[in-house]
Amino acid sequence: MAEGANKAISYRISDNENSSRFALDLAQKPDYKISIRHNPERVVIELKNTAWGDIKTQGSAKRITGVRHNLMPDNNLQIVLDIKTAFTIKKYFTLPPKENIHRLVIDIESGISQANTQKDAFIPIPKLKKIKKPLIAIDAGHGGRDPGTTGYHGSKEKILTLAYAYTIKEVLENTGRYEVILTRKDDTYIDLKKRVEIARDAKANMFLSIHADSHNNRMMSGFSVYTLSEKASDKQAEALAQKENAAGLLDNVDVTGDTSDVTALLIDLVQRETKNLSADFAENILQEVRPETEILHLNPHRFAGFRVLTAPDIPSALLELGYLSNKKEEKLLLSTNHKKRLAEAIVRAINNHFEKYPVE
Ligand SMILES: [Zn+2]
Repeated sequence: MAEGANKAISYRISDNENSSRFALDLAQKPDYKISIRHNPERVVIELKNTAWGDIKTQGSAKRITGVRHNLMPDNNLQIVLDIKTAFTIKKYFTLPPKENIHRLVIDIESGISQANTQKDAFIPIPKLKKIKKPLIAIDAGHGGRDPGTTGYHGSKEKILTLAYAYTIKEVLENTGRYEVILTRKDDTYIDLKKRVEIARDAKANMFLSIHADSHNNRMMSGFSVYTLSEKASDKQAEALAQKENAAGLLDNVDVTGDTSDVTALLIDLVQRETKNLSADFAENILQEVRPETEILHLNPHRFAGFRVLTAPDIPSALLELGYLSNKKEEKLLLSTNHKKRLAEAIVRAINNHFEKYPVE
């Protein structure tokens, strides 16, 4: 490989609801050109000074029947996507590097071909849209006169949640892909309504509330996540607005201890018809966190019954990092290493989410 040359490392094809996606990972920022060819239908991607890393097709997609590559003069690489039927390029973009990997994404949808009348037309692709950075609101639970729960050795939830909020903020900002706001920056009391307002006023694209649990049973341990889904909200708002009913719901999933803040926040979110809370995102978080720490054995994603998934573009989730009432878990939660690992897992989940549902 020539000095300074780029390299195609891997790619994946997959289906979204109405489109198929080609995602190519490269060692450097790609210098590329995309054109559309007909008879047969195909997309041609030309990459300047790029080597082919001997990679195989990953995944499958309804509209993409094949991926081929040709080594061109001057170390250029051509990748050809064979497309099943007439199509248009819905959008294409590159993502800022993540762990030094650059990604080029092309979404294809079925329909009238662009420049269908010309054979082998070169399509002037519309200018790249500037990708807007998603704004993440991180809400450190409790604060000020509300200490939250108290740990086995006396640690305070409000202190822990603030420390995690700052760590997550830092990891998010280091990716260069996000803007971050904190609902509180220090040990002050902010009521639940105000927290949601702060996120809304800032037009946040995601709201993450950070908490830690406690339980009378000091053996209880593990990470869990709460979400509500949009479609269920009217019915659930009614139910949740009634304190007894809400308590009943929580009883069903065997939650005690730190329920008042959870319940109140969820009620608030629902009453304000906060939209698009995402069960999908919650699963994503559990998937990323699972290798890093213990997950609550029973119902780690609570309110699964609320799960009516729509396209979630503004998900909100409430994370219970673990049980401070558990001696071992309290120690773990307080450790710098665990804080960093959990924060990184959460940020990976956020990355996955916004790759799937980019902010327009
Ligand atoms: Zn809490």
